[in-house]
Amino acid sequence: MTAERADPGTAAGVAPGRRLVVCAPLLPEARAVRPGVGDGGEVRVTGYGPDRARRQAGRLREETFGALAVAGTGGGLTDDLAPGDLVVATEVSDGTTVTACPSAPLLAGELRRAGLATRTGPVVSVGRLAGGRERARAAHPGALAVDLESAWLAEAAGGRPVAVVRAISDTPQRPLLSPAALAGGLRALRSLRAAGPALRRWAAAAGQRRVLLAGPRSFCAGVDRAIEIVEKVLERQGPPVYVRKQIVHNTHVVADLERRGAVFVDELTQVPDGATVVFSAHGVSPAVREEAGRRGLVAIDATCPLVSKVHAEARRFAADGYLVALIGHAGHEEVEGTLGEAPEAMALVETAADIAGLRPPDPGKVAYLMQTTLAVDEAEEVASALRERFPAARAPGSDDICYATTNRQQAVRAVAAESDLVLVAGSANSSNSVRLVETAQRAGVPAHLIDGPADIQLGWLAGVSTIGLSAGASAPPAVVGEIIAALAGLGPVEVNERVTTTESIRFSLPKEVRSP
Ligand code: SF4
Repeated sequence: MTAERADPGTAAGVAPGRRLVVCAPLLPEARAVRPGVGDGGEVRVTGYGPDRARRQAGRLREETFGALAVAGTGGGLTDDLAPGDLVVATEVSDGTTVTACPSAPLLAGELRRAGLATRTGPVVSVGRLAGGRERARAAHPGALAVDLESAWLAEAAGGRPVAVVRAISDTPQRPLLSPAALAGGLRALRSLRAAGPALRRWAAAAGQRRVLLAGPRSFCAGVDRAIEIVEKVLERQGPPVYVRKQIVHNTHVVADLERRGAVFVDELTQVPDGATVVFSAHGVSPAVREEAGRRGLVAIDATCPLVSKVHAEARRFAADGYLVALIGHAGHEEVEGTLGEAPEAMALVETAADIAGLRPPDPGKVAYLMQTTLAVDEAEEVASALRERFPAARAPGSDDICYATTNRQQAVRAVAAESDLVLVAGSANSSNSVRLVETAQRAGVPAHLIDGPADIQLGWLAGVSTIGLSAGASAPPAVVGEIIAALAGLGPVEVNERVTTTESIRFSLPKEVRSP
């Protein structure tokens, strides 16, 4: 196979230093990927096998380009891969040299959103096909795919953004020389064709950036405490440990604890009689505690003390004969738990419009409380509308919106003022994380909630030079690190932090899990 020259007219209008070069070892692979890459890059046939890959890499090292991608078919190394699946390399290795591809989660996320079955993991390049798969599986137990070129081609990126996408043509169950191989090859080429536009967007997102970290961000004292409680119970009793509802609203935290033996249930009926159950950080109503008592369950309470404080206020106001308006979001576990403290004396108020519907027996005895994770400015608007209708309305003794929510909103506002885009790490059901996104948006900056780097849409990054980055109170600090690492795979990233306040609050553990 001879190396094909670049299409005249490709990468038109792109400065040489920003040019995308896509290396496709074989002509059918280049033909598959080229339409999608379009004029966003130059697709070249680099030739079959390690020798041609090494020669092409030598030429590439002499050239000026901005990003390098390798796109071709490959052999699947694990039983769960099927022909047509895409593998985006997190690293490529020839057994000696390893080239990292840190932007892999970004590209993989883009491919999944395009409907393509995509995995991320190591790719291994071997010297020859015969027996190569077996050798690769033996020598690289974690590798997902094997090929004959990627490691040498990728090395030529020399620190510039690099991506390797291999479409699986053959698998351990459908080896290369089987009758099913032709169909597998065709499916792989179809997937490569569909991957072309994502490669173009990946290259368009490449560039140097600044990341402004909001401080404080990530775990608060209540979340730290709740996770530690489950860990301690796991340590003392061993798995399984039942937890009613998600301990905190974050997919990573929940998945990690599940791996270690926690079993998350929606209702106590799913917990065996006599077992230990942990109540989540969002709190529970008295009815749930009573049910646990009736069932003989050993309940350990991970409710955040600041949520418990709101519960106590609800009980106090209700006992004093007040109608208690709870400003919050319907359906949130914390709201359900707080309303359950005095259901007959409480009413949920989501917006200022709901205030007209309040019918207190005594208009002089109205009080209000707030969900702990609301947006400070929005909640205050509702509270002031309530005070307007009921001038004697009693406010909570101290702010219900907790210190962590308030501090993170203040910090995200500070970075938004200097950013072109704000990203907030957090799960979709995390109220305080969603409020951070809204806070940044109200500051006039495009802002998005992401559970991790794979949720970043590459189109958001085009033309963006400063990214503000925060994380909700339930999002692990490690996710912030993963996001920065992935962004750094698109080009040099300068990371600065804007600290608006520091936090030193810690909550003590419940007696059941305290060390003796
Ligand atoms: S966000 Fe606030 S109320 Fe919720 S767990 Fe953290 S400190 Fe407690």
